[in-house]
Amino acid sequence: MPLDDTRPLVRTPRPQAGEGFMGYLLRVSEANGCPDPYWLLRALGCSAYALATSGTLKPLADALSLEEVSLEALRHAPASDGPGSRQVRFGSGTVHRSAIIADRSRYCPICLAEEGFFQSVWQLKPVTACPKHGVQLLERCAGCGRSVSWRREELFRCPCGHDLRQSTSQPASPESMALSRVLMGKLGNPLHEVADPALLAEAFTALELADLVDHTLFIGAYVSGRGRGAGRQTMSRLMGDAGIDVFQRVAVILADWPKAFFALLDDFRRHGGEGATHIGLEMEFRSFYAALYSRQFRESGKLGLVRGAFETYLRNHWRGGFLGAKNRRLADDLHDRQRYVPLAKAARLIDMHSGALEREIRAGLIEALILRMGSRTLIMIDREKLEAYRLNRDQMVGLFDARRVLGLSKSPFLDLVRAGIAKAVRGPTLDGYAYWTFRKTDLQQLLDTILSGVPESKPGPDHIEYRKAVRIATYRGLGIVDFVKAILGRNLRVAGADPRAVGMERCYFDPDEFLAFASGERPFANWTASVEEAAAQLGLKSQVTYHLVRSNLIRSVSVSEGGKISLRVPLDAIREFETSYIPAAELAVRYGTSSRHLAAVLQQHGIVPVTGPTVDSGRQYFFSRSRLAMRDASEILEGIRSRIDTA
Ligand SMILES: [Zn+2]
Ligand SMILES: [Zn+2]
Repeated sequence: MPLDDTRPLVRTPRPQAGEGFMGYLLRVSEANGCPDPYWLLRALGCSAYALATSGTLKPLADALSLEEVSLEALRHAPASDGPGSRQVRFGSGTVHRSAIIADRSRYCPICLAEEGFFQSVWQLKPVTACPKHGVQLLERCAGCGRSVSWRREELFRCPCGHDLRQSTSQPASPESMALSRVLMGKLGNPLHEVADPALLAEAFTALELADLVDHTLFIGAYVSGRGRGAGRQTMSRLMGDAGIDVFQRVAVILADWPKAFFALLDDFRRHGGEGATHIGLEMEFRSFYAALYSRQFRESGKLGLVRGAFETYLRNHWRGGFLGAKNRRLADDLHDRQRYVPLAKAARLIDMHSGALEREIRAGLIEALILRMGSRTLIMIDREKLEAYRLNRDQMVGLFDARRVLGLSKSPFLDLVRAGIAKAVRGPTLDGYAYWTFRKTDLQQLLDTILSGVPESKPGPDHIEYRKAVRIATYRGLGIVDFVKAILGRNLRVAGADPRAVGMERCYFDPDEFLAFASGERPFANWTASVEEAAAQLGLKSQVTYHLVRSNLIRSVSVSEGGKISLRVPLDAIREFETSYIPAAELAVRYGTSSRHLAAVLQQHGIVPVTGPTVDSGRQYFFSRSRLAMRDASEILEGIRSRIDTA
């Protein structure tokens, strides 16, 4: 039945109170035998997308003998002509366009059967329940399982033939009924007694319609996983086909605010994907930030409740005091996002492995923003701090290169380090850091001091060269430490520096002078203890103490006694050990747990014991006291205590 514009429609049903535009249009097109409502619009000369545009509805109004304004009130035209405005009119208020389902029917089958029309509020995505009948709204046909397009011939019938009124629906959750009822109330719909609006947190009940809808959309985007990593994507794209289930979860979160929201944030971290990289998590975190703190929302004061709760969450999880009261507000800091670089990118910028950089951060060597969420951690680094760190790091060398500067093998080199002669910046027995780190210039300076005033020339045939000197000294019970101390203390003269050799190996000695030094009687017994005696003084088992001596955690000297070399512990080395290390067992008593558990928790957080079963097959765990004195360590220890207290 082609329509012509001289003849009004044969049947002109009136719109019902609370009826939606497309549902009404379908009722009209069905009454007049049209194939579908879009066809009707086109036939009358209206835009087929009249719902979403401000195109005129006059031909339709004329055909229905209605005032154009009464039709205008039904459709969701843009709220303003401004470009980029996504707000559309809805009832007496406005909502974000992506909150409206425009192209398909959602419905309560019972209402549909009782009232015979599609309610306007059913098109609002956060409305997921019928508070009158206590059921979930349906967005699919029970007959064919497809979503029910408005492009159909009969109001009550899916194109597959199924009568939508015959569908049954699940009972709705009290939370989704509460949210639906509050939204319906804000749209001027009569309230229904089945739902208890008090279930919704009061802060939300008090919001304006548009703001409440924005909150549900924003949280919904993250509930559905769409918000994550989405950056600046528009809400419309995020929420395009978000289903009822998403908003039912949102309703539960709004009902238990902010606790349930915090749980959602925890969930992000936990389910960030197995093996999710730090960079991925940072992106995710940043997109959440980016959206939440975008100018669009910040300047309008929208999403205030989400922002407030998010900041509370961060404040309780940030480490490093970034959000302390004296610090700038998070919102201000986000202004210049370029200032912070995610861990992986930062590591790339300074040509470093991200795991290594993370260790440096955890050890407090470089300041970073560390966000702990559930079992995940996000790390952001200030560009300026990163550059300062890089400059400093270029001066640093690890054990391998440090040894090469002095031309020593590992064991004598570490003896020098533990004796404080070769100065380390960081290291296992220094601050508990797992890797020895040295400043190149410190080592070069030590070598320069050893060789200062020493003529550079090749050794003669009578000279005792370095390697031979070490052998003689060792045989006499003298270690490298005694050796270097003697040189630095001017008790042993270096006769010359061999230009062909490297480091300490450049040294050679006058035979008479060297033998006089090496055979010098020294009263070892007066200032040393046997390992057994040291064990007794430390209150440790002798096997444990032997291990500590062997691993150089307790400094020792080799002493020649009656032709036999034995290990003895200088008395000051015992005191030194006690002030530098603490047994995990002692800590365990203090924090009310077992030493194994304590060691495991600390290791999980990157705080490695200097010795112990999982480190070097030592029998007991020991930690560096200075490492444990760092803030992150004390927080972890307090965490162990509080977990036990609350258990
Ligand atoms: Zn109903
Ligand atoms: Zn169907």
